[in-house]
Amino acid sequence: MGTTIALAGNPNSGKTTLFNELTGARQHVGNYPGVTVEKKQGAYVSNGYKMNIVDLPGTYSLTAYSLEEVVARDFLVSKKPKVVINIVDASNLERNLYLSLQFIEMGIPICIALNMIDVAKNRGIEINEKKLSELLGIPVIPTIARNGQGKTELMNAAEKMVRKTEKPVPLDISYGGDVDQVLVEIEAEISANNFLTDTYRARWVALKYLENDKQIHLLGQKTNPVVSAKLEAMVNRLSTHLQDTLNTYPEAMIADHRYGYIRSILKQGVVSFQLDQNRLFVSDKIDKILTNRFWGPIIMIVILIGLYHFTFTYSETPIGWLESFFGWLGGMVETYMQDGLIKSLVISGIIDGVGGVIGFVPLIMFMFFGISLLEDTGYLARAAFMLDRIFQIFGLHGSSVMAFIVSGGIAGGCAVPGVMATRTLKSPRERLATLLTVPFMNCGAKLPVFALLVAAFFTRNKAEIMLIITLTSWSGALLIAKFLRITVIRGPSTPFVMELPPYRLPTFKGLVIHTWERTWQYIKKAGTIILGISIILWAMMTFPGLPESQKQSFEAQRQEEITTVPSIIVAELESTDTKEQLSDEAQILQNSLLTIDAREAEAALKFSIAGRFGTALESVSRLAGFDWRTNIALVGGFAAKEVVVSTLGTAYSLGKIDPEDNQSLSKTLASNPSWSPLVALSLIIFMIFYTPCFVAVVCISKEAGSWKWGAFSMAFNTLLAFVLAVLVFQFGTAMGLLGG
Ligand code: GDP
Ligand code: MG
Repeated sequence: MGTTIALAGNPNSGKTTLFNELTGARQHVGNYPGVTVEKKQGAYVSNGYKMNIVDLPGTYSLTAYSLEEVVARDFLVSKKPKVVINIVDASNLERNLYLSLQFIEMGIPICIALNMIDVAKNRGIEINEKKLSELLGIPVIPTIARNGQGKTELMNAAEKMVRKTEKPVPLDISYGGDVDQVLVEIEAEISANNFLTDTYRARWVALKYLENDKQIHLLGQKTNPVVSAKLEAMVNRLSTHLQDTLNTYPEAMIADHRYGYIRSILKQGVVSFQLDQNRLFVSDKIDKILTNRFWGPIIMIVILIGLYHFTFTYSETPIGWLESFFGWLGGMVETYMQDGLIKSLVISGIIDGVGGVIGFVPLIMFMFFGISLLEDTGYLARAAFMLDRIFQIFGLHGSSVMAFIVSGGIAGGCAVPGVMATRTLKSPRERLATLLTVPFMNCGAKLPVFALLVAAFFTRNKAEIMLIITLTSWSGALLIAKFLRITVIRGPSTPFVMELPPYRLPTFKGLVIHTWERTWQYIKKAGTIILGISIILWAMMTFPGLPESQKQSFEAQRQEEITTVPSIIVAELESTDTKEQLSDEAQILQNSLLTIDAREAEAALKFSIAGRFGTALESVSRLAGFDWRTNIALVGGFAAKEVVVSTLGTAYSLGKIDPEDNQSLSKTLASNPSWSPLVALSLIIFMIFYTPCFVAVVCISKEAGSWKWGAFSMAFNTLLAFVLAVLVFQFGTAMGLLGG
């Protein structure tokens, strides 16, 4: 017997008609072994090559919900036909492609017979089968089964596929963040236990568990009840989560994203309607406006600006509360704790360090709330869809957009999951280019630094500056991607398909949960890594202490001040708590003593390990306007970008002129003579481009498969950042801009 070819498709797509047309009289009808589902087989001879054709039962999906689906799937898995001819009703394309997509997800070699094109044409539907074939990566042949049109071309294409030796790679699509995350976990569990992996791919089994596939469940329970129960528990956890947040189920979510994937294919010029527009769904109607060539981008920019305004306006008040709280806390410790190392550790290492980061929690929360809103409604995917056109120009891929957005493309992401998100990219070159450029986005850790500098120097145009920062990082990332794609990672690009889930009204509860999940991650990071780093940096800024001789010289200066005034003034200063109650003479004495304290603190900081490092770099960093304190902070930022804020906080609180003055760090910077708006701008530019944090570098190296790329991104990014910052600072100084 020759090669087996199966015919598969939805009921009423014309399978039997095509089967009869192909096999003529050479057919026989029976039942599938063990079940009473009709099984028709027949022979087709083409150029002397005989093919055995099997008409599978008509199904809408490949999940075992019905007997027909079980029979069709079992046949495909056990008989492994060399080619499956998937008959698709062209007049009902979106619904029919749902099955096709599942074949592609399973890695089954298919060839599409785009049937009933006569019916489609009568309804005014025009289909570009070349485009469809290109986007799906499989042959698509238009046919009219009833009169045999296209039959020969179809069989020629099928025969070509039979002769091909390599099997298609199963397509992994995204089913949305929540499902994807659990899918990966379940997949890992399955692989670790070799659970059903002799017959099926681990990811496919995981998907079937999520889809509640009866057959796979039963098979799994029989094979390994312990693992199966574990998987079910993971699925239940996701189910509960999805019900709480989006009021939906994993099956529905998966189906939604499959349809979304299909819709995005159809939207790329595959289908056009000539006659009636009434058949459009609500989502399509909304899409007609929101992804319109002209209005789409304008609406997108308006929405993004709206998001910034929302974030910055509403988070101002709670940030103020937190700032006063930490100020108060510092004041309490200042008053009630013994002077010494421990006190310095608590105030400069812990309260200022962590407080500086926690202070931005409201901002992060509002930002995440806005992003969750865009994500849950389905708009975020549209934004990515529109940006795809631009991405192609820069040698990237449509799927890169998601990685950029996750990394903070709208602001407030993280390059680590962003780097992970590049796994959906099939082309290695575009993936590498994306990996290396996502760290330029404004991750949640850079935000506090920007917010601090904006609050200190650009109070009046907060939202505008944030928009400029975002645009700078995007254009920088795209230009660098292009640069990389024409130098170190050259090569052609691949066609793009992305899921467009239907629009839905998000629930408030869902938004709150999504917002909280992300905010909590930020807080956890601030509470652990940042606390540790903050303490290490404090130690670096405190040790070694000033040599005894210098300490004595400062002490001598203090004594000299004290001896110049009457002892009654000294007594007054020692007995009075608040500055306002002091006499003028006492205040003058206090100020001179504090100035000496500050000079001593500064001398000590400069003498410390960090200070020596920062000072050594200063001669170079001056070109960009950075002093040694900023250098210390930037070095700390390699550990985690938030640390820049906490380190500046520590550096400036150690050298503070007035210890009772608990004013915020932004005010301290604004009033410091070595700072200006130009220095702030130069620092912002440097922050956008310099080395990714340590964790991100590790991820990049892992995902790119070589430490070489991790090292590349550290060196290349830092050098680039420095050059840009120097350009900004030198140009600004020369032109006398922004106080430079
Ligand atoms: P099955 O359920 O997939 O086996 O579909 P059938 O082969 O029974 O076809 C369903 C109906 O569609 C029948 O009435 C066929 O005559 C009709 N049909 C099949 N292919 C075409 C086609 O290409 N054009 C038109 N106009 N009708 C078709
Ligand atoms: Mg039939």
